[in-house]
Amino acid sequence: MTKTATTQSTTNKIRNFSIIAHIDHGKTTLTDAFLQLTQTVTPQQFRERMLDSNPIEQERGVTIKLAPVRMQYQGYTLNLIDTPGHVDFGYEVSRSLAACEGAVLLIDATQGIQAQTLANWHKAQALGLTIIPVLNKIDLASAEIEQTLLETMETFNVSEDEIILASAKTQENVDKILQAVINQVPPPKTTPKAALQALIITSVFDAHKGAIAYVRVMQGALKNQSLYLLATQTKFSPKEIGVFAPNMKPVKELRAGEVGYLATGLKDIKFLKIGDTITSNQARNQVTALPGFKNPQPMVFMELYPIDNHDFAALKDAMAKLKLNDAALKYRATHSPALGNGLRVGFLGIFHAEVIRERLEREFNLELIATAPAVTYQVITKQNSKLVINHPNEMPDPSEIAEIQEPIAKTMIFSPSEYLDKVIKFCRQKRGRLLNTTNLGNRIKLDYQLPLAELITDFHDQLKSLSSGFASLEYELSGYKPVDAVKVDILINKELIPALSFMAVRAEAETKGRTLVKRLKKVVPRQLFEIPLQAAIGGKIIARETLRAYRKDVTAKLYGGDRTRRMKLLQKQSKGKKKMKQVGKVELN
Ligand code: GDP
Ligand code: MG
Repeated sequence: MTKTATTQSTTNKIRNFSIIAHIDHGKTTLTDAFLQLTQTVTPQQFRERMLDSNPIEQERGVTIKLAPVRMQYQGYTLNLIDTPGHVDFGYEVSRSLAACEGAVLLIDATQGIQAQTLANWHKAQALGLTIIPVLNKIDLASAEIEQTLLETMETFNVSEDEIILASAKTQENVDKILQAVINQVPPPKTTPKAALQALIITSVFDAHKGAIAYVRVMQGALKNQSLYLLATQTKFSPKEIGVFAPNMKPVKELRAGEVGYLATGLKDIKFLKIGDTITSNQARNQVTALPGFKNPQPMVFMELYPIDNHDFAALKDAMAKLKLNDAALKYRATHSPALGNGLRVGFLGIFHAEVIRERLEREFNLELIATAPAVTYQVITKQNSKLVINHPNEMPDPSEIAEIQEPIAKTMIFSPSEYLDKVIKFCRQKRGRLLNTTNLGNRIKLDYQLPLAELITDFHDQLKSLSSGFASLEYELSGYKPVDAVKVDILINKELIPALSFMAVRAEAETKGRTLVKRLKKVVPRQLFEIPLQAAIGGKIIARETLRAYRKDVTAKLYGGDRTRRMKLLQKQSKGKKKMKQVGKVELN
């Protein structure tokens, strides 16, 4: 009795919570303020944006890997679980919320409610969390406090006195937020005597300790005993159990309701799937899996080729290193006669793809050519079987195809009403189907069905620019729909270059083919003789450009890329490094 009572009272002093917000609304800054206020870090240890450890996270100001941290405040243990802000990692957000009883809903008072604010609120609401609304950045002169208050009250059905006005930057009222967490968020409900059930929030790889799971113990206790992973059916013994304070600090056990880490000694994080359940090996047949487990599915595919063919081994090594900490990253080797050896990589979304590509270039010093991003298609054949197509070259012959289906995203767009016409026109061009509109003060929420293929190009940038930066969007996949699409092939000097093939809606195929051929004309170096550059659909030429004879030229990137990167490529080439030796039968040097 006494023993249960002490366990109970410590559990009563635990609060597990997250901060949810639209990107840039101040989540990381507020986390910093919490760390200082609770003296979890000393002023000497403190550096801004403590939890964004990766240089790209620091620089882009986004959180990629979520990181939990334990704080002591007024006799309470507060476990704050930071979440990745980007839509590609939406599944990780919902798994970290599943580890909490409450969430601070942070709204930038200069921006108001945005797409991710609402999307994350829905996630938290669905999991039954206590939600504490906070208006942030009230120190700014441009803060529209009254307007944002009204919006917040209307959207989330809360009264004015439930909303905290704060500034993460000046730390005004940050103590009130923590006080609300203590008073309003319920302590974890636990059954400490039950068999172990722990949720994997995320996982990282450590050279010494192996794969490490960040966990929330839902029931029972996590201690040094033989353990078992339900989804990956893996048995192992813990190497170390600990908490984040904020650095890893070993403890004897993690009890029900607690958040911490578990070093598994396993050699690969593929065993530690986000959302999986850890139990004791002994209880593995009695314990049921926690709800919501999903295997991450790559949605966007891209091929990466080193500019210098000798860098292929280095590219493979670098990718293997990145994969150590990113179970969602999938790739395999591929070869193109024009571009040499490369990797075909599957990503969760376009942002995930950009981050990986940037890390390969910056951290591993690789110069890469990336093919255009593509989505996964489904093909129903005339024999009525279903094929999953991850690359245009896997498309069967058109005569065998009964139907092609493309991934569709349920998309929510927030826009000030003055840009409404432009947004609707733009989405129509992008084959969007408008399902619903809702007024929110002087802004409008639009619910769309949009093809993922349209979203993964520069959709977000275009939406931002046509709305002067004010519109925001959030999407989640909602299934596949039939599409009238065709494969467009590119031929250089009459030779098919498979790496350049792409899928397009039939009505746009010709324009897209022509655009790519025009772009190729600028990047393929001239030869001693004339070279035709052609786009074709099923053998029929739809566009042609002619590269006139000779003038030694340099190679730019085929798809986008910024100027500095292009300059680097030029420098590298001028240093005499070998670029693509051949495009088809065309010599490049
Ligand atoms: P996150 O993307 O939600 O993690 O947002 P960050 O914490 O990275 O903040 C985005 C930007 O807003 C940064 O430049 C912060 O310095 C700034 N910021 C965050 N909170 C405040 C605040 O309360 N007042 C002011 N003036 N700026 C803030
Ligand atoms: Mg952040």
